[in-house]
Amino acid sequence: MSAVYLDHNATAPIRPEALAAVNTALIAGGNPSSVHAAGRAARARMEQARVQVAALIGAPASTVVFTSGGTEANALAIESAVASGARRLLVSAIEHDAVLETARASGAQVELMPVHSDGRLDLEALSAALKTWNTADGRPFVALMLANNETGVLQPVAEAAVLVRGAGGWLHVDAVQAAGRIAIDSRALGADTLAISSHKIGGPGGAGALTFGPRATLVRRLHGGGQERGRRAGTENVAGIVGFGAAAEVALYALEAVSAQAEWRDGAQAALAAAGAVPLGADAPRLPNTLCIAAPGFPAELQVMALDLAGVMVSAGSACSSGKVKASHVLLAMGQSDLAGAAIRISGGWSTKPDDWNQMVEAWITAYDRHAARRRAPAA
Ligand code: PLP
Repeated sequence: MSAVYLDHNATAPIRPEALAAVNTALIAGGNPSSVHAAGRAARARMEQARVQVAALIGAPASTVVFTSGGTEANALAIESAVASGARRLLVSAIEHDAVLETARASGAQVELMPVHSDGRLDLEALSAALKTWNTADGRPFVALMLANNETGVLQPVAEAAVLVRGAGGWLHVDAVQAAGRIAIDSRALGADTLAISSHKIGGPGGAGALTFGPRATLVRRLHGGGQERGRRAGTENVAGIVGFGAAAEVALYALEAVSAQAEWRDGAQAALAAAGAVPLGADAPRLPNTLCIAAPGFPAELQVMALDLAGVMVSAGSACSSGKVKASHVLLAMGQSDLAGAAIRISGGWSTKPDDWNQMVEAWITAYDRHAARRRAPAA
């Protein structure tokens, strides 16, 4: 049995087109700020990548700021809002830590916006919070992700945008997991800022981007040179950015193929549910590549280890960067406190084959049955 990688939401394998582009850019070298031929060539490569990345998210290329990844892109938006006067941040309870922790560290007051049991934002709660806005709180700022990283559940961003706009606020959208998996038109969505990350779409790690609309005021966080039109100082990661651009271009053409993978995911979900797993977030519209399941009494880390031993790589529902598993704040927000420590995330993508899902199902059922038999056996 060959190894099965179903952890694209953690990091997608690098696409061959991105690898080739990184290689070419590294060999070519050059600093995009240099005026000589090598510098101009590096700049041209980087600007081509800006156009490719912009096309993936429906944004004008001139509004794309390259960063070191999704975390920094989110931070640039949140910290810009706080620097321009936001005192109270409305943040969905299911945001990634990159958003939650940056908001908490910003010095502004953070208010978590609840989700329904299906994992989608409670729009009435958002509307009520915006109605009680006090001018002392500065301009309203709302952070709502497009797709959740653990469950894949799509959020009602366009609906939230109408409410935020009506209140004169700033809507930030973390689209790190949605990019390359569903079509994104950041302007039609009503996002004032929107973040994406290279390594989630088959580009290299260490590159990301933020697009900003006319109602957002970006405030630089890194000081130094005038790179990125003064919005982010520091010599750009040209090879990473160029690989990001190549991945974005292929991902855009491949959206339909990823969308068709929902069928494989749904088949696996049905087989696992029949064996005793509880699918989470399955009643809401989801990314086509993501499945979150829980098994009551079967801790997430044991599931991940058992699958790993069988050559199948997935994540615990909430794996922190340290690799330690804590109860998932996403599932807790969905009211699933009994299952929050027993959920795993299975996520496919561009390199996935239908048989990968079949092997995962087989391995999971074997592990689950073994675990259940061990629990039933009387202690010696
Ligand atoms: N936002 C979401 C929804 C994510 O899933 C992740 C990574 O897992 C991030 C942000 C952080 O992105 P990066 O790893 O590029 O910093």
